Amino acid sequence: MSTVPTLTLNNGVQLPAIGLGVFQTAPEETTAAVESALTAGYRHIDTAAAYGNEREVGEGIRRSGVARDDVFIETKVWISDYGYDSTLHAFDKSAGKLGVDTIDMLILHQALPSRFDLTIAAYRALEKLLDDGRVRSIGVSNFMPEHLEKLLAETTVVPAVNQIELHPYFQQKELQAVHAEHGILTQAWSPIGGITHYRDSDKSALEDPTILDIGSAHNKSGAQVMLRWGIQEGRSVIPKSVKPARIAENFDVLDFELTGEQVAALDALDTGVRGGPEPEVITLDAFGRDIPEA
Ligand code: NDP
Repeated sequence: MSTVPTLTLNNGVQLPAIGLGVFQTAPEETTAAVESALTAGYRHIDTAAAYGNEREVGEGIRRSGVARDDVFIETKVWISDYGYDSTLHAFDKSAGKLGVDTIDMLILHQALPSRFDLTIAAYRALEKLLDDGRVRSIGVSNFMPEHLEKLLAETTVVPAVNQIELHPYFQQKELQAVHAEHGILTQAWSPIGGITHYRDSDKSALEDPTILDIGSAHNKSGAQVMLRWGIQEGRSVIPKSVKPARIAENFDVLDFELTGEQVAALDALDTGVRGGPEPEVITLDAFGRDIPEA
């Protein structure tokens, strides 16, 4: 079985470069998916309070027989739990559901641009949890450059990651440059372009001829090409699947290398068109929802 390379976060903590994502993984499918990933060699699971499957993620880890300390667990605080005390309590809810004392990475799921005061208070709670040793690293997700600049100006700990939409069709290169400038790791969500096909799009990155041609040259699938591209460019990738064969396929990307020309061809596929919601439109009114107690 391959050993996954790790990325060093800005506080020295090691993050496995490939993880399993579980967005839209139904709770009843989550335990098996997590177990299957850990058996295939994955050591990083990315979930979120808002995904409603943290309990099953914890169960999958326990059932796998892999030691708790050998698995990097990442989860996210939903916007409805922003605010200093609410976010401290959000940790208790997530840790309780996961069945762990410590979370390896806890991140803010979105910026709340219209209530940035709450976003800052939530991040200060993450800093407190880090200081207390309840979490090993902290970060953010879907932050745009202006959100990062405001956060950095008002808080102390530079986020270890910003988890953002990133696949060949939407690469956010300017945002990646801001990350590099501050020592923030880019973590790619929809790394095989899930968002380009699961919302009725007729333009699936998995069917892109350029990507498939590169795959043919290496005897690899389009998904494997996109994941290899992410890893080779130094990003963390967290592909989601509930199918054991695909979970294994998505991990089998460590035995080939894309040429400079192939990387350039992938870099050139950027359309600049976002698949997910505009970070600026996230509000409590439109996106708020109750996160149950553990
Ligand atoms: P992905 O790019 O991981 O694509 C997942 C989709 O592709 C699913 O429909 C899956 O179906 C299918 N798939 C998986 N592997 C293969 C394969 N080898 N060949 C063909 N199809 C495949 O998209 P996601 O949006 O799920 O992103 C990954 C993770 O990123 C999420 O699960 C979540 O953890 C995180 N995320 C974070 C967001 C945020 O706001 N922070 C937003 C969105 C995602 P099937 O399961 O049937 O195999």
